[in-house]
Amino acid sequence: GSSEAAVAGRTSAETFAHAQAVIPGGVNSPVRAFGAVGGTPPFIASGSGPYVTDVDGHEYVDLVGSWGPALLGHAHPEVVEAVQAAAARGLGFGAPTVTEVDLVDEIRSRVPAAEMVRLVSTGTEATMTALRLARAHTGRDLVVKFAGCYHGHVDALLASAGSGVATLALPDSAGVSTAVAAETIVLPYNDVDAVAEAFATHGDRIAAVITEAAPANMGVVPPGPGFNAELRRLTAEHGALLIQDEVLTGFRVGFSGWWGLEGLREGWAADLFTFGKVIGGGLPVAAVGGRRDVMGHLAPVGPVYQAGTLSGNPVATAAGLTTLRLADASVYARIDQTAATLRTELSRVLADESVPHSVQWAGSLFSTMFGPEAATHGVRDYAAVQASEAWRYAPFHRALLEAGVYAPPSPFEAWFVSAAHDDTAVDRVLSALPAAARAAAAA
Ligand code: PMP
Repeated sequence: GSSEAAVAGRTSAETFAHAQAVIPGGVNSPVRAFGAVGGTPPFIASGSGPYVTDVDGHEYVDLVGSWGPALLGHAHPEVVEAVQAAAARGLGFGAPTVTEVDLVDEIRSRVPAAEMVRLVSTGTEATMTALRLARAHTGRDLVVKFAGCYHGHVDALLASAGSGVATLALPDSAGVSTAVAAETIVLPYNDVDAVAEAFATHGDRIAAVITEAAPANMGVVPPGPGFNAELRRLTAEHGALLIQDEVLTGFRVGFSGWWGLEGLREGWAADLFTFGKVIGGGLPVAAVGGRRDVMGHLAPVGPVYQAGTLSGNPVATAAGLTTLRLADASVYARIDQTAATLRTELSRVLADESVPHSVQWAGSLFSTMFGPEAATHGVRDYAAVQASEAWRYAPFHRALLEAGVYAPPSPFEAWFVSAAHDDTAVDRVLSALPAAARAAAAA
């Protein structure tokens, strides 16, 4: 139990102090270090439904959800049972298993344009493979990405990236060679003219445009009406591939991901999709999928090499498959409703305290941008994100944490709710909001 852990001297503070001596920053992924909000990150002992409990015995309503995978909440009994059953049969074989084929079929049934799918373990591998496929398919080298979009820590995609790169205010990453960086064209998000101009200038050298289907790694910045459709049109016109990165949005914002909210209705699809997070249900599974002719370049059929010791792992795919099979329309309806409630109340309490803000949202994903510019114009690109009053977030976050609400420890991340967030959990968040709004106002 949590009190035993504290008695044994494994408090968050003590563990973090030791961890910093043996793990860079004390964490295995930068944003977990709480650098943007200050204080000691709680070390999590367990999670159940909408709650996580730290080793010091504090329980929080979790609004991070493992950064997306926890669509059904933590330790959903049916998911745990499937994982335990799979684990009992052996943790992995490096040989094909039936579950991975079932998971691929589940993905294809929701996004039919993912005609063929290759499973990997992380979103980073998925986008890396998508780029390699696009370059092989087109015989071109350049790739277009948007400032503030995060696609994992692929060398070519770290320029002006979101998520932890934005939190640490890095323009890009050290250790990326000049040659690789020179093959990436970074454009402002939501700027169709900039994309058209890039194609007018370099059109015959651009292999692909990669974009978050709805960006949620610079805070949430929804695509303007027709932006994704215009990317589809321009890439097709110039013989480049469109890669929609749905690692975060896929099967979270709806039954068929962001494509189901936009592409399905408007009648278009990307050439390649990347998925992750929800398709692993909390264990490491990600995927690249898309056009049969493009996917056919992958080894062993084609000349594009890609592989993984743990790819399609039977325990991980059991977690993902069970999660997706449970994620029916009612799950998405419930999550949409909970997100709408939180968005509305967030905006109301901030207005009550006269804190200028914009609650930005895309489907069930949302985040708050502070400042008069954000309040007046909304936030449409990374420049506007950087001009926002991000410093109001630290005291806001601290007040929430003290009231038992675990929001993302950075202003540049989306808030995640799950189908397990019931009225009790939501009420706890709502009652924590006024004090947090006062803290943001006082900052
Ligand atoms: N693409 C997007 C849109 C993401 O949000 C993320 C992770 N937050 C990634 C790619 C990278 O995935 P991973 O962390 O599994 O490498």
